[in-house]
Amino acid sequence: MQNEQQATMEKIISLCKRRGFIFQGSEIYGGLAGTWDYGHLGGELVSKLKDSWWKQFVTAREDMYGIRAAILMRNEVWEASGHVAGFSDPLVECTKCNHRFRADQLEDKEKCADCGGALGDARQFNMMFKTTIGAAEDSASVAYLRPETAQGIFVNFKNTLDAYHPKLPFGMAQIGKAFRNEITPRDFIFRCREFEQMELEYFTEASQWETHFEHFRGEMLSWMESVGIDMSHVHELEVGKDDLAHYSKRTIDFEFDYPFGRKELFGLAYRGDFDLTNHKLDYFDEATGERFVPHVIEPSFGVDRALLAVLLSAYREEGEGENMRAYLKLKPSIAPVLCAVSPLLKNKPELVEKARTVFSMLKKEFGNVMWDDNGNIGKRYRRQDEIGTPFCIVIDFDTIGDPSNSSGQEKTELLDTVTIRHRDSGEQERVAIVELVEKIKSQI
Ligand code: ATP
Repeated sequence: MQNEQQATMEKIISLCKRRGFIFQGSEIYGGLAGTWDYGHLGGELVSKLKDSWWKQFVTAREDMYGIRAAILMRNEVWEASGHVAGFSDPLVECTKCNHRFRADQLEDKEKCADCGGALGDARQFNMMFKTTIGAAEDSASVAYLRPETAQGIFVNFKNTLDAYHPKLPFGMAQIGKAFRNEITPRDFIFRCREFEQMELEYFTEASQWETHFEHFRGEMLSWMESVGIDMSHVHELEVGKDDLAHYSKRTIDFEFDYPFGRKELFGLAYRGDFDLTNHKLDYFDEATGERFVPHVIEPSFGVDRALLAVLLSAYREEGEGENMRAYLKLKPSIAPVLCAVSPLLKNKPELVEKARTVFSMLKKEFGNVMWDDNGNIGKRYRRQDEIGTPFCIVIDFDTIGDPSNSSGQEKTELLDTVTIRHRDSGEQERVAIVELVEKIKSQI
């Protein structure tokens, strides 16, 4: 089972590279561990995931304010948030080969997994990337790349109050890059040093926190389902008191069954009044004339882990040997390419011309439509299957009413119709060009 699962992971990684979803960062120079570059298709998929998140958690609601804060932040922010003192993992180093490991992830805490040498004592290693701002490299100019998007939200709490005068409860959301100097980046895009988060902080009166916690728990589950994450692989873990992060009073980890084990996908935390108190921020309730510090519920999502869970949930293989077909059963709303349009043969100008007209019509309507005239039709289907394209549209001789090449059916009946081939079933149906847009829309 373990081998089979590992094989799935290798297949996904290879598909992602071969088909242009995800590449190793700085690859032509040997790669930079913990960094990944998204190619055209991976980038499209990521945009779709982020758009659907933003729509559900921000634009569809009345009580949410979206922000885009700076990645570089002053070190006072991270002192107040507790990250300078406490955002660290236990690091151990092999005394022989000097390889480094995260102590809490080791099965054998005495011996090096790589060379068998003795491991040294664990010490705390701060995971924030430090940099200096300006020409003088003194401590006054130290800044950190944010290790989470959350603090960018808290430091804009007052700005948001002053600008929009929201009443409690309300939330602030942000999608953006985060950086962590992970000791052992691993498992493809699961643990990176540079990654993206989608986070929101929901501010409420203390007495209401449980209601909102439950609400966002449901919202998180419904978003996962909506983007096609296999919910039978999602598990909720109530984090024990001893394992809670320094700021949290209650946390649920949503875990996913990855091929490399059951690990965290997203988190939902009750942060109490920790952050606002530390940043010396509060809220004035005009109705009661009271000033107090709101409490916070934080749903936190990793974009890259979401993408990995979506890809793993969508990957399918059918048939064996030569006839094996691999495809990504992505939801049409998420698929990087919604439909591919092909002329049956690329050397027949009349087919190409008609196919170009259909292509332009669909491209104008949907945007993510691909022109595909490479290789024979079987190869095109395979390639489109692998990138998860739900619909392949083919323009053939019947479409243009060419009697010499007609399939033998009454040609006027098929004139101006095309074939839609469905990714999951492999079935084909004949649809009139004038009905094509509506037909596809009804299946998104
Ligand atoms: P882990 O225990 O796996 O290191 P965490 O508990 O430190 O994760 P949080 O600080 O809660 O993670 O971050 C919120 C979310 O950001 C996580 O649920 C995950 O989706 C994502 N995330 C965190 N660290 C990474 C990373 N190194 N690479 C990719 N995504 C990450």
